[in-house]
Amino acid sequence: MELDLGPEAARFRQETRDWIAANAPDGLAELVDWNTPPMTAGDHSAHARAQASPVHTEWEVRLLADRMICPQWPERFGGRGWTLVQNAIFSEECALAGVPRVRRGFGEGMVGPSVMAHGTPEQQQHFLPRIISAEDVYCQGFSEPDHGSDVGAISTRGVVEGDEIVISGQKVWTSGFARANMIFVLCRTDPAAPKHRGISYVLLPMKDNNIVARPLRQLTGGAEFGEEFFDGARAPLFHVIGGLNNGWRVAMTTLGHERGGNATVAHLKYQRQFAALVELARAAGRDRDPVVRQQLAWAHTHVEIMRFQGLRLLAQLAEGREPGPEASIAKLFWSEYERRVGEIAVELLGPDALVRPDGEGYPLSRWQEVFLASRAGTIYSGTSEIQRNIIAERALGLPREPRPAEAKGVPA
Ligand SMILES: Cc1cc2nc3c(=O)[nH]c(=O)nc-3n(C[C@H](O)[C@H](O)[C@H](O)COP(=O)(O)OP(=O)(O)OC[C@H]3O[C@@H](n4cnc5c(N)ncnc54)[C@H](O)[C@@H]3O)c2cc1C
Repeated sequence: MELDLGPEAARFRQETRDWIAANAPDGLAELVDWNTPPMTAGDHSAHARAQASPVHTEWEVRLLADRMICPQWPERFGGRGWTLVQNAIFSEECALAGVPRVRRGFGEGMVGPSVMAHGTPEQQQHFLPRIISAEDVYCQGFSEPDHGSDVGAISTRGVVEGDEIVISGQKVWTSGFARANMIFVLCRTDPAAPKHRGISYVLLPMKDNNIVARPLRQLTGGAEFGEEFFDGARAPLFHVIGGLNNGWRVAMTTLGHERGGNATVAHLKYQRQFAALVELARAAGRDRDPVVRQQLAWAHTHVEIMRFQGLRLLAQLAEGREPGPEASIAKLFWSEYERRVGEIAVELLGPDALVRPDGEGYPLSRWQEVFLASRAGTIYSGTSEIQRNIIAERALGLPREPRPAEAKGVPA
């Protein structure tokens, strides 16, 4: 089933397809399987090598020249003002052509929208172009050793000294910290204020700024994320977005900015993964085993549900409706699905799953990586339990979970 989004969307799709065909440099699609991102069955080094290639650089230059990086941003902020549907069509066409959609990570999806919503015109003028050009690459400094799901409980301190803010404390599980030159940090600037007030949102330079950043090694052997110790890290007050003690509102914009840009392509990588799973069952001589066939049927059904979920979200966006708790449903669904697929794959591999391939460092086979990396999927961007709470309370209208303070009779 495909979705008819009307003649305007069809025209846009054709234009986009033509643009990609005219501008994608030869050899780009062959560099690596761009539809299988690292973290989920991807080879980190293969992706890194492909991104460093001159062919990829040329693609990036062409995208930049035609404002096809952050194209969903309004024109006055350097984008093309694309609607969510146009944005989704572009992602889909890139995926179908096998070329990468070049994104600016946390800067594009989180910092940019927050600066647009809460920054002053001067802040917008300063920070937004630097995200598009990749002069500023951000990582997210919300989680702390004792405060993950409960972001509002952060204890990193920010003290105003003259026209600067001085930050001390610790952040942890910071994805992409090694690539970033900027970290967006939540810090407590008024400890006397109630929990969600007295927090500020700061865009903090990371280099030569009294910050010790250390990698944290993961189950997969990679060290994609890290921890940072701030001992008087400084930023001009100009880097505080939304005003002092008003960071909670900005953080909510940041966290709420997971929209439907990828909805219609999310299932594509799972379709490929499913085909590989069937191959694995064949290679193991288990494809006639009724239990294995049932597991494969389960996986296929789930991939199809993800495809339909994507189409539903796209139809919703085409009608001009914003996605609500659907984002939580989708996140819960794909993350739990991927964990189960990893388990099915290692069951199929049997004892072989316990043996890593030969090679330098810590090489993993494709399925070992899916099995190990997928554990993280049900934790980051809101754990499965938190997603279930959101679905229960906001989608199903069930009574709110009692908060600890309420249980003691104290208002939350
Ligand atoms: C791969 C990866 C990348 C990450 N990247 C970043 C990053 O870039 N920046 C960043 O700031 N953070 C990042 N995180 C951290 C992530 O946001 C937190 O791990 C997550 O929010 C959970 O917090 P926690 O680990 O402190 O667990 P806790 O919040 O302590 O939760 C522990 C357990 O209790 C459950 N729980 C907590 N509260 C409730 C509740 N109200 N109801 C029911 N159950 C509950 C949780 O579901 C979980 O099972 C990353 C994590 C991972 C795994």
